[in-house]
Amino acid sequence: MNSQYRVVVIGGGVVGASVLYHLAKMGWTDVVLIERSVLTAGSSWHAAGGIHALNADPNMAALQAYTIDLLSEIEEESGQNIGLHMTGGLTLAGTPERWEWLQSAYRVFQSIGIEDCELLTPQQAQERCPIMSTDGVLGAMWADREGYVDTTGTVHAYATAAKKRGASVFEHTKVEAMEQVHDGWIVKTDKGDIRCEHVVNAAGLWAKQVGRMAGVELPVSPLKHHYLITDQIPEVAAHDFEMPMTVDLEGFTYMRQDQKGILIGIYEIEHQHWAMNGAPWNYGMELFQEDLDRIENELMLGFARYPSAENVGIKTWVNGAFTFSPDGNPLVGPVPGKRGYWSACAVMAGFLQGGGVGKSLAEWMIEGEPEADVYCMDVARYGKFAENKQYIKETTGQFYSRRFVISYPNEQLPAGRPLKMAPAHDAMTAAGCRWGSSWDLETPLYFAPSEDFEENLTLKRSNAHQIVAAECKNVRENVGMVDITGFSRFEVTGPNAEVWLNNVMASKLPAPGRAKLAPMLGEDGRLKGDLTVLNWGTDSSGHCTWWIMGSYYLRAWHMRWFDDHMIDGVQVRDLGEDMCGFGLTGPNSRKVIEKLCHQDIGALKFMGCGDFDVGMIRAKVARMSVAGELGYEINCRYGDHVKLRRMLLEAGEEFGLQEYGFNAMLSLRLEKSFGIWSAEFTQGYTPGMTGMDRWIDWDKEFVGKAAAVAERDGNGPAQKLVTFEIDADDADASGYEPVWSGEKRVGFVTSGGYGHTVQKSLAMALVDADSAAEGTDLKVHVVGVERSAKVIAPSPYDPTGKAMRG
Ligand SMILES: Cc1cc2nc3c(=O)[nH]c(=O)nc-3n(C[C@H](O)[C@H](O)[C@H](O)COP(=O)(O)OP(=O)(O)OC[C@H]3O[C@@H](n4cnc5c(N)ncnc54)[C@H](O)[C@@H]3O)c2cc1C
Repeated sequence: MNSQYRVVVIGGGVVGASVLYHLAKMGWTDVVLIERSVLTAGSSWHAAGGIHALNADPNMAALQAYTIDLLSEIEEESGQNIGLHMTGGLTLAGTPERWEWLQSAYRVFQSIGIEDCELLTPQQAQERCPIMSTDGVLGAMWADREGYVDTTGTVHAYATAAKKRGASVFEHTKVEAMEQVHDGWIVKTDKGDIRCEHVVNAAGLWAKQVGRMAGVELPVSPLKHHYLITDQIPEVAAHDFEMPMTVDLEGFTYMRQDQKGILIGIYEIEHQHWAMNGAPWNYGMELFQEDLDRIENELMLGFARYPSAENVGIKTWVNGAFTFSPDGNPLVGPVPGKRGYWSACAVMAGFLQGGGVGKSLAEWMIEGEPEADVYCMDVARYGKFAENKQYIKETTGQFYSRRFVISYPNEQLPAGRPLKMAPAHDAMTAAGCRWGSSWDLETPLYFAPSEDFEENLTLKRSNAHQIVAAECKNVRENVGMVDITGFSRFEVTGPNAEVWLNNVMASKLPAPGRAKLAPMLGEDGRLKGDLTVLNWGTDSSGHCTWWIMGSYYLRAWHMRWFDDHMIDGVQVRDLGEDMCGFGLTGPNSRKVIEKLCHQDIGALKFMGCGDFDVGMIRAKVARMSVAGELGYEINCRYGDHVKLRRMLLEAGEEFGLQEYGFNAMLSLRLEKSFGIWSAEFTQGYTPGMTGMDRWIDWDKEFVGKAAAVAERDGNGPAQKLVTFEIDADDADASGYEPVWSGEKRVGFVTSGGYGHTVQKSLAMALVDADSAAEGTDLKVHVVGVERSAKVIAPSPYDPTGKAMRG
C-alpha cells in the first residue's frame, strides 16, 4: 500500500468496487479501495442478487438500466463469472389501481428508452412463470432484462476489472479516522496513513461511522430484510427454462429460481431498524435469526402465490441488513462543506443500482458533472434537518414498509412530518388548509371547505379538483393569497457581490429596485437553476443587497453550488430560517396592498422590488406572480408572518380575497406555460431546449458560456419545450408520459394538469424539433390510455401578459 493515492475508496462492497472500476475506466488509475475485512463483507455477500428494470423514479430506472447493461461487460472484462441469469422478469398487479399504475409505468419506461417491456394478461404471465398461481392477478408487466447475479462473483468482477486497469485493492485494512488537510485528506488506517485528494465513503452498513470520521451526519440507516431458499421443487425441475424474476407487489414478495428451488424475498410491512449508528465494527459475515412472527402474513401470501413451494422444505433462511435513505434512493456525490469528501452509500439495491452510482460518481469527480441528471440520488438533496435520528427512523421505516405499496401523486405520507411549519400554520389549518411537504417544510396544497373533507387517492383527478378550480377562479377574477414560505431566499452581499452574481448567473443583472429571471448554468452549459435575482438597492452606507430566489427544496443543493463557485469579498446567506411571506395574486391585489402601504406601492412596476411598510410590518415587496396575474410577493421576517396574514385578510375582505394553495398555483402557472424546476427545467436540459436562452446575456462572461454559445451557434436543440392541449376527460398528464407522432415516439411530457381558467387539460413536453410547430397533432398516454394532443401556442391564458403587467 502506498502512502499517497489520488482517490481512496472506503468499502469493498458492490458499490465501492463499482466506483473503483469506473474511476479506472475513465483513466484515473492512481486509486485504491480499502476494505476492513474481505471484499463483499458487508451487505453484499448475502444479497439475493436480483435485478429489475422497474423503479417508480424514472431517473433511477435509467441508472438501473445502465447497470443491467454493464453486468455482462464487466464479466467479460474481468474474466470472473458473475452467474448472470437473464431470466426476464414479471411484475404482477393484484388490484385495479395497481393495474392502472402498471400500465402507466409501462408507458413511462417507453419515455426513458426502456423498450423491452410488455403488458401481459394473467394467463400469459403464468405461461412464463408456470409455478405461479394467478389468483387475484389482473395483469402483469414483462421486462426482458431482469434476472439475478451471483453477488460475490459480481463484486469480484468489478474489483478485478478495476485492477486490470491499474487500480489497487487492499483487504484486511480498516480505516479508523481521517483528517482534512489543505489539499485533500489523510486517511488513517490500521496499516498506516494515506494522503489523497478525494475520499469516497462506500462503507455500506458502516457508512454512518465513516461519515462521522469526517464530521458528516448522513441520513442513512440499516434495516433488516428476509429471504428464504427452498429445497428442490419438482414443478420447477420439470421445466427446461428458468422461472422469471417475479415481483408480486400486492403480496410484498419477490421470487427467483435458485438451482431447482426458489428464493422468496419479503418486504415486511412490520419493518425493523438495526444499528442506527452504523453496524458494530466487530460485525462479521453473520446473519440474524429469522423472525417468522414478523413476516407471517407476507409468507402466507408468498406460499399462496407459489403453492408448490409449500410441499418442500426450506433450505436456507437469510435475515440480513442493508441501508436506506429517507426516500430510498442512494446518497451520492460531493458532500456539502467537505471538499474532496464523497458519498456513495445508502444504496438499497447495489447490484441493480451500483453500476449507475459508480459511473455517475466517477464522472462527477473527474469531469465535474455526471452525464445523467442524478438529482434523485444527490447527497445534497437533503439538508441538516435530515440528520435527526427520529426523522431518519420514521422516513426510512416508511420507505421500507411501503416498498411495494403504491404511492399516489396526491398522497401525503406522514413520516417525518409535520416538521417545520410557517408561523401562520395553525391559523391556516383552522381555515381549512391541507398540507403537503417540501424538504422540511409544510406547504399549503388547498383549502378544504369542511373539516371532514377527505381527498381520494388516485392517479386521476381527485375530488379536490373543484376546490382547486374555485381557488383558481378567485385568483383570476378577484385576489388570492398564498403562503410563500416555501420559496428559497439567499442574500448576497459584500464588495464583490455584483461581480460574483454576474459570473454565476447567465442573465443580465437587474438594476436597483428591479428583479430579473436568471438562469444559472453548469460548466457544461446545462441548467443549474431557474432563479430570480432581486436587487434591493444600496443602503445609506453604500452597501448593495441582492437576493436570489428559487425552489425551497433545492436550498442545500444550490448552496453547495454557490460555495463551490465562491470568490473573496462575497457573502451568501441562506435566509430560509429568517424570511417567509405571503403572495397576493389577482386583479384586485393592488387595491389590497395599497390600502395597507404607507408609500406609493401603486407606482411599483412589473418586476420592481423595494422595502415597503405594509401596515406595521417592514416588508420586502416584489411585484411578480407565478400565476401570470398582477401580483405582489410580500417577504417578511418569521415573526411577522401571523400579523401579515391577519392584515391582508382583513384588508382584502372587501375585494374578495381568499387563500389558495400550491395546487392552484401549479394549475395557474401551467396556463401561462411557466416552467418549474424538476419538470421543465432540470440539470439534464439546456437553455436552448427549454427556452431559457431568451434570458441569457450573450455579451458578458458567465459560468457555462462556452457550451451555451456552442448550442446557440449549432444546429439548434434536438428537442424543444412546447405546450399541449390534451383530449383528456378524467385524468391529466403528470410527467414522463411518452408523446407519439403516429407510431414514432417524439418526446415526453415534463408536467401536466388541468387549466381551470381555460378549461383544458394542459401539459408541457419536450418534443423533437420537427414535432414542435404549433398545430401539430400528436398523441400522449395519460394513465396508460392514448389521448390526442395538439401543440398550442405558449401561454393559453393571457398570451400577451397584459394581466401581470397591468
Ligand atoms: C437479505 C438481503 C437481500 C438483498 N437482495 C438484493 C437484491 O436482490 N438485489 C440488490 O441489488 N440488492 C439486494 N440487497 C441489497 C444489497 O445487498 C446492498 O444494496 C449492497 O450490498 C450495498 O453494497 P455496499 O457496497 O453499499 O455496502 P456493503 O456491502 O455493506 O459494503 C461496505 C463495505 O465497506 C467495508 N467497510 C466499512 N467500513 C470500513 C472501514 N472503516 N474501513 C474499511 N472498510 C470498511 C465493509 O467491510 C463492507 O465490505 C439485499 C440485501 C439484503 C440484506
